Amino acid sequence: MKNMREWALDLHIHTILSPCAGDDMTPPQILRRVKELGIEVVAITDHNSAENVEAFYIKGKEMGVKVVSGMEVQTREDIHLICLFDTLEQVFNWEKAVYQRLPDLKNRKESFGAQWLVDSEGNITGEVDRLLLMGADLSLTEVVNGVHAIGGLCIAAHIDRRAFSLWGSLGFIPDRPAIDNVELTPHLARNPDQLAQLREKGFNYLISSDAHYLDGIYPPQCFARIEEFSIKELKAAFLSQDGRYIRTTR
Ligand SMILES: [Zn+2]
Ligand SMILES: [Zn+2]
Repeated sequence: MKNMREWALDLHIHTILSPCAGDDMTPPQILRRVKELGIEVVAITDHNSAENVEAFYIKGKEMGVKVVSGMEVQTREDIHLICLFDTLEQVFNWEKAVYQRLPDLKNRKESFGAQWLVDSEGNITGEVDRLLLMGADLSLTEVVNGVHAIGGLCIAAHIDRRAFSLWGSLGFIPDRPAIDNVELTPHLARNPDQLAQLREKGFNYLISSDAHYLDGIYPPQCFARIEEFSIKELKAAFLSQDGRYIRTTR
């Protein structure tokens, strides 16, 4: 129980690499905004790629914001899953597995948007050619098992949205360990059936901004009471173990 306290989290933020995200989503700009708002831990979760995570690690260290290695995978069933890891090495291993199962199509910038790579200062260093905004040929179960095998966690993204969500696709919440936790949006009305099911199954859900633009990053709405941020501690908070918990503002 030493040094346990609440940490303000936003575990779902896109960067300028996501074709649907704004050009303002660079390390200095995102991390400055996050700091202003009082968010202490951010996960970088681009669609099917982790190629900008390292730049955020570097800038996060400099600015005193904890950056978590992440990715938002689109499964074969078109379900979005937030995958989180402790290290860059883990997320790059996972990226390799996802790239092998992504359809080998070229991005068309005019139609889908650019997929920019940046350095820690936000300078453009290149772009990803392959189309990222696609379902990988990996099922929900394959993604969860693959992420667990590397030591990560899987969170069903924005289940209160119909599109690209676990709830929209299955119509129910599966039990652990089929999924580690679920995420709700900061803005949509809560669905009483969904909340009842979450309670019954013992999920203390997260709220994340899923920001694609700087002004889409919300003030903190989700807190984890943990010793320090790690995947192990986060998992213990999901399971409400030994005084750890997740608290949301709505
Ligand atoms: Zn999504
Ligand atoms: Zn997203």
